[in-house]
Amino acid sequence: MSQPVIPVPAPTLLPVRGGGQFPVRRIYCVGRNFAEHAKEMGASVDRGNPVFFMKPGDAIVAGGGEVPYPPGTQDLHHEVELVVALGRDADGGVPVEQASSLVFGYGVGLDLTRRDLQARAKAGGLPWDTAKGFDHSAPCSEIVPVAAAGALAGRRLWLEVNGQPRQGAPLGDMVFSVEEVISALSGLYALKAGDLVYMGTPSGVAALQRGDSFHAGIEGLVELRGSIA
Ligand code: MN
Repeated sequence: MSQPVIPVPAPTLLPVRGGGQFPVRRIYCVGRNFAEHAKEMGASVDRGNPVFFMKPGDAIVAGGGEVPYPPGTQDLHHEVELVVALGRDADGGVPVEQASSLVFGYGVGLDLTRRDLQARAKAGGLPWDTAKGFDHSAPCSEIVPVAAAGALAGRRLWLEVNGQPRQGAPLGDMVFSVEEVISALSGLYALKAGDLVYMGTPSGVAALQRGDSFHAGIEGLVELRGSIA
């Protein structure tokens, strides 16, 4: 039997409400999914063409807590987002009407962003990877299984920093629904159980400083707390 020649990386696990752990495979992210945020970034929403990018699965900071200020930036930004956890593999392209059958549960997370590197990448027509896919860039709450979560419609997504409101919007303001995003992603990638989708952020993105504390939530569903070390 052939053995691994270096230690096998530890799996990335998120706690599940009610018990158990959710093993994270990939993290897909949606850009420009709230019109007001697209506007504040000087962009517009293209209804026919969602913007996707990825973070490494091990960028997760499970359950929040201390997040180290990343190297290589002077402008770390918060983006609070609904996180969708997939519990089933997709069999090729998934029609919008069947997309909800892939969903295991929901959480709330931060899509931490090196905004200065992103601005430089945009200006140069370059990829966003260093701006988005860095270590510890994806704090995420526990996952609430669908059956325990109830309907998402009408719930508010919010973020406070040092006790002050920073971001907030109803989830109904999302340009692309969870089902539309899963369907679109399934046409580009082989979606699998363990994948997360960060669904995009409302307006109000701003800088985080060392020592800041954050408190994020989806109204009546789930919360996430932590600080920037
Ligand atoms: Mn984002």
